[in-house]
Amino acid sequence: MTHIPRNSEARKGITRLLTASVVVGAVFAVATYAMLRSPMAAALVLTGAIVGAAVETLLVIRDSRKAVARMRCSGLESDRTLGIGLYADLVSEACRRLNQYEQQTQEAVACKTRLEARVSVRRKLDRQLKAALDALDHPLLIVDSHGQLQFTNRAARDWFAAGCETPANRRSESQTLCAIDHIAALADLIEQTCARESATDRRTIQFELKHAAEAIPCRATATGLRDDDGGLLGVVVAVSDIRDEQQAKTRHAEFVSSVSHELKTPMAGIKAFTELLMEGDVADTDEQQELYGYINTQVDRLTRLVNNMLNLARIESGVMKTQRKDCELNDVLKRALDVVRPSAEEKQIHLTSELSDLYLPVHIDQDLFGQAVINLLSNAVKYTPEGGDVCLRSRMESDLAVIDVRDSGMGIPAEAVPRLFERFYRVEQNNKAAAGTGLGLSLVHEIVTELHNGVIDVQSTVNQGTCFTVTIPLGHAQPMRGKQEPILAAT
Ligand code: ADP
Repeated sequence: MTHIPRNSEARKGITRLLTASVVVGAVFAVATYAMLRSPMAAALVLTGAIVGAAVETLLVIRDSRKAVARMRCSGLESDRTLGIGLYADLVSEACRRLNQYEQQTQEAVACKTRLEARVSVRRKLDRQLKAALDALDHPLLIVDSHGQLQFTNRAARDWFAAGCETPANRRSESQTLCAIDHIAALADLIEQTCARESATDRRTIQFELKHAAEAIPCRATATGLRDDDGGLLGVVVAVSDIRDEQQAKTRHAEFVSSVSHELKTPMAGIKAFTELLMEGDVADTDEQQELYGYINTQVDRLTRLVNNMLNLARIESGVMKTQRKDCELNDVLKRALDVVRPSAEEKQIHLTSELSDLYLPVHIDQDLFGQAVINLLSNAVKYTPEGGDVCLRSRMESDLAVIDVRDSGMGIPAEAVPRLFERFYRVEQNNKAAAGTGLGLSLVHEIVTELHNGVIDVQSTVNQGTCFTVTIPLGHAQPMRGKQEPILAAT
């Protein structure tokens, strides 16, 4: 069954077409009647016009429905729409437009997918960046160009809000902000960097952060963050705890004073005795020999000090090349004993040895390892009062060679033991017993642990004595070829 399209515009068109056909039919019917005076002919003309109009209407409706059907089907193709008669052009244009909109829609969908992918990558980068900043040990703050806090890393939250009662994992940026506001110097630094009051974009200040009863010296560096046009985006503030740095400075100053003292004393003696000898004030040959001997001892002392400093610097900077060889440990220990014996005799100290009867095969740099044992033995002699005992022992323990340097000296207080191997560290209570630089044990530690895979331990009781125990792997190794000679300063 044929339906007239419901669309009102279409209805109007069809009505106009029918009306026009009926009017034209009526005009022709009247004209026919006027010419032929035959009502029959006039009725035929009118009927023909009406039937023609009806057929044309049906054809239009059919074409219209086909056109609509064509437009509704997917994959519109212009050649399929060409045979749609009356609506061919209309359908063809509509199809072209629809194709165009479809393409635009696909492009928009592709664009949206690309944007979503970019947003997801950005979010991931953002998370990575935040995680990286959180992993930093240094507290870090980022404020916007108006000084408003935008980001704090984990260290900053822990650091600044340490005084507040909120658990560490729940500290918010507002708590950090509140803590920062209480540090006037830091707040000023941020304000001035935002206001560009300084000539440069980077400013550094030092301030003290109150943590419980402690005032921690800190350094904060604020750097302006700028866009390509130089506009201020914000300020990043990096804070660091400078306690270690300040302690290192103090230790360095102590070291310089200690080294100066160590150098001055023997140099003054050498100068005085050399002048005596040069001016001929000492005629007696025995006395002259005594002065030469003294000068020689002082030169040895100076040489030892300088070489300790040089060797430590070389090991720490990694330029020290070791020449490890297969050898017998007791041979190295005996040579070390011979080096220290004169100073032990000077103090009437009983220097004894209990070396293992077993052959102790080791793979060591004999000069360096010997130096470490000499340092331990000479410390034992230095910090043991006259008439005391110093004993060097060696033994085998499963696959390890163990060396003990034991003395009956003044001992080391328990609180000083953890810092004993630090560079320039000297035990205050023992300072008067002997001059020193606090370098000897650092060197021993480096030689034993870094260069020989060994371990060093210390047991001590004040006023009873000290025992340093060095343990290194036992056993010979294949001789290594092409190794360089050690750049060891002879001591
Ligand atoms: P120093 O040049 O001062 O002797 P070391 O690094 O050799 O430097 O030793 C560090 C400190 O350890 C010494 O100042 C001393 O107080 C203490 N010390 C080292 N060995 C002994 C020991 N056998 N007995 C007591 N104190 C010792």
